[in-house]
Amino acid sequence: MGASMEKQTVVTRFAPSPTGFLHIGGARTALFNWLFARHHGGKFLLRIEDTDRARSTQEAIDAILDGMRWLDLGWDGEVVYQFARAERHAEVARELLAKGHAYRCYATPEELAELREQQRAAKQPLRYDGRWRDRDPSEAPEGAPFVIRLKAPRTGEVTIDDQVQGPVTVQNAELDDMILLRSDGTPTYMLAVVVDDHDMGVTHVIRGDDHLNNAFRQLALIRAMGWEEPVYAHIPLIHGADGAKLSKRHGALGVDAYRDELGFLPEAVNNYLLRLGWGHGDDEIISRDQAVEWFDLGGVGRSPSRFDFKKLENLNGHYMREADDARLADLIAPGVAARLGRKLDSADRDLLLRSIPFLKVRAKDINELTDGASFLFRTRPLDMDEKAASLLDEPGKALLAQAREALAATDDWSAPALEAGVRSVAERGGIGLGKVAQPLRAALTGRTTSPGIFDVLVLLGREESLGRLDDQLG
Ligand code: GLU
Repeated sequence: MGASMEKQTVVTRFAPSPTGFLHIGGARTALFNWLFARHHGGKFLLRIEDTDRARSTQEAIDAILDGMRWLDLGWDGEVVYQFARAERHAEVARELLAKGHAYRCYATPEELAELREQQRAAKQPLRYDGRWRDRDPSEAPEGAPFVIRLKAPRTGEVTIDDQVQGPVTVQNAELDDMILLRSDGTPTYMLAVVVDDHDMGVTHVIRGDDHLNNAFRQLALIRAMGWEEPVYAHIPLIHGADGAKLSKRHGALGVDAYRDELGFLPEAVNNYLLRLGWGHGDDEIISRDQAVEWFDLGGVGRSPSRFDFKKLENLNGHYMREADDARLADLIAPGVAARLGRKLDSADRDLLLRSIPFLKVRAKDINELTDGASFLFRTRPLDMDEKAASLLDEPGKALLAQAREALAATDDWSAPALEAGVRSVAERGGIGLGKVAQPLRAALTGRTTSPGIFDVLVLLGREESLGRLDDQLG
């Protein structure tokens, strides 16, 4: 660090504060930064903004790193920890002081409280009034604590040509002289962010638009140091489906919950987050390679995007169907084992893998896939759920008995041959195939939904299938 950037290389960063889990909005910010860097063949850096010592936790740091790895948002180089750089931040404050771009302010907390009171009473904006800005340092009270403030321009205006929001202008008179270094010598957030972005060579600051106001203050600091200004892109926040700011109730969960509780695949979450606030024509399903090829800041919308859980679920179903069978088998194996209460042996694993093509077409998420696979491993006699049990009434059992006979007489235990056998039962009784399939499904799986019944028979094999039917026929 410290080396100045090469002009051409794009450098982005994700700078979460580790005070909670990696939430879905943070993940989207990370994704946009990652894609922008990859699109331009640049670098994507990760900085943990852990300066709030009271609220930052190792657990949150771990959750952030884990979430990013799961989403496959790899960062370049080492993670930068902001707190560890406090001395460097202080050094910049002192440099600004030496250059005359900052000053010591000795105003006491009581004095400032009084100032705020007066401003409040006069219905003025609450701003530091610059009382130490032009005072001679010799007037400083001996040994009294002081903060270092930026000597920000007081006249004129600043315009940020934001890549998402467009040009945004603020009058300098609206910005007061912000604190850079507190009286205990610790840097403020504003100082730390600017110094770190500079030292890390960040060329593009892409973040939530709740930081847009900060950008004007940060720019004043950058200009005072004579540093290169980054390009800014402030992306609108995510709202719930009802238009209100996203909260837990709307699915603003940690990324880990999308994986562990909801059973989503990372590529589905990525695809969803990409589309949440960024568009490329009407494309909904966008692979990672396409995203890297297409991503730009021009495609980011200006209005808040609405979180649509149904859409995420649909995308997940799509990616489940596309996913490699072996990968899905590995993903559900722990859940299947937990439901069985035992380890899976190699025969179980083999059966699981063979069943995936039939199961994945009907599962929206990993939990459903796990549920769907459970019937394969249940021990006989199967426990029936209520609906399945009701299908095995007298007439149901009578059909089941005929089906069992036809199946037992089938030499070739393949789906077409088994279907021919069951079909003959239906035809003989002058009923539809479904009528026979229903009790059959109930007896074979203990449930009323499953993959195609002939696939179920093939997966279970002759012995297990006939055994399950016999259990019900008693
Ligand atoms: N640490 C800040 C946050 O988590 C982000 C700061 C930035 O991106 O400049 O909101």
